[in-house]
Amino acid sequence: PFVLGIETSCDETAVAIVSADKHILAHSVLSQIEDHSEYGGVVPEIAARQHISSLDHLIKAVLADASMQISDIDAIAATTGPGLVGGLMVGVMTAKAIASATKKPFIAVNHLEGHALTARLVDNIAFPFLLLLVSGGHCQLLAVYGVGQYTRLGTTIDDAVGEAYDKTAKLLGLGYPGGPAVEQAALQGDAKRFQLPKPLLDKPGCDFSFSGLKTAVRRTAEACVDKEGLLTLQDRADLCAAFQETVAVCLANRLGHAIEKFRKKAGPGTLPFVVAGGVAANKVLRARLQAVAEEAGLTFHAPPLALCTDNGAMIAWAGLERLVASPDINDIDMAPRARWPLDNDAKPLVGKGK
Ligand code: ATP
Ligand code: MG
Ligand code: FE
Repeated sequence: PFVLGIETSCDETAVAIVSADKHILAHSVLSQIEDHSEYGGVVPEIAARQHISSLDHLIKAVLADASMQISDIDAIAATTGPGLVGGLMVGVMTAKAIASATKKPFIAVNHLEGHALTARLVDNIAFPFLLLLVSGGHCQLLAVYGVGQYTRLGTTIDDAVGEAYDKTAKLLGLGYPGGPAVEQAALQGDAKRFQLPKPLLDKPGCDFSFSGLKTAVRRTAEACVDKEGLLTLQDRADLCAAFQETVAVCLANRLGHAIEKFRKKAGPGTLPFVVAGGVAANKVLRARLQAVAEEAGLTFHAPPLALCTDNGAMIAWAGLERLVASPDINDIDMAPRARWPLDNDAKPLVGKGK
């Protein structure tokens, strides 16, 4: 089967077609970063309008790119939550309209499940696997037992990791999105020059906390600035390196705890560990997590960089996984959900959504 996937939950309009034999036949991502940059963050109203004006063209272009007609597609999937409700409505209404007109099923995809299952599009990863989901809005450790079957082991008690990157970048004048900018700046930095606090590190469990870190970055930056209030490039690079090192140590520590918990639940044998979400594009963090996972005897998996941040293929693929798991699926009655946690996903796998 072939599934067309639509992503409009935030500031990317993205469309892709994937097949059950794991091919991305075509995909396209339109970023709205420039439309929002003068406001210093994503403006929901502007995002929704941009999705409206781009989506139809993008779907046509992706179909043309795959040399396919809509009649060749078996199901239409769209991100139905969590996210900005205006954008979600655009994607969901478009997908439902195409589904109704062509008499194909509509599949409601949880954006987080899109991130969670992407690694299975590129690697052969069997359930159960341990997942670290690190993105702009989330930082969670989950045991994944199957499509729609998630148990949460830990989560952030305040900021998400991507959010911490973005706030740190903003504070240091590095622009948006902050993740790639901080990673780049850190390459020239000395991670040992500044010691930043590592919250929860000496505590048991798998929860995270990052809000104190951004405050510490701000205080350290304030202590370094010259009379004009400016940081040298070296100060900035050292701060980025210290920030990233702190994040790496915290993620690695919590992953260690989660592996112990997961082993008890999932039993012996080789278990996979997957890191996903926009922050999983970070090479330093990937390497550190890989070391922890492999040291503990787990296999390490991360999507290719372009499939870490928001894209259409992850939504099409999660839709495909849902279609394969329950061939008579149709979520046409399901409405967009601004909040939609992955772990207490009450949506039954088979049948008409809720
Ligand atoms: P969510 O998936 O939680 O709803 P989102 O969809 O907005 O949030 P993603 O697209 O998954 O988030 O990820 C974007 C986030 O990833 C941003 O916060 C961005 O700074 C961060 N990010 C992207 N590339 C990197 C990188 N190389 N290093 C660190 N962070 C990164
Ligand atoms: Mg985005
Ligand atoms: Fe995302």
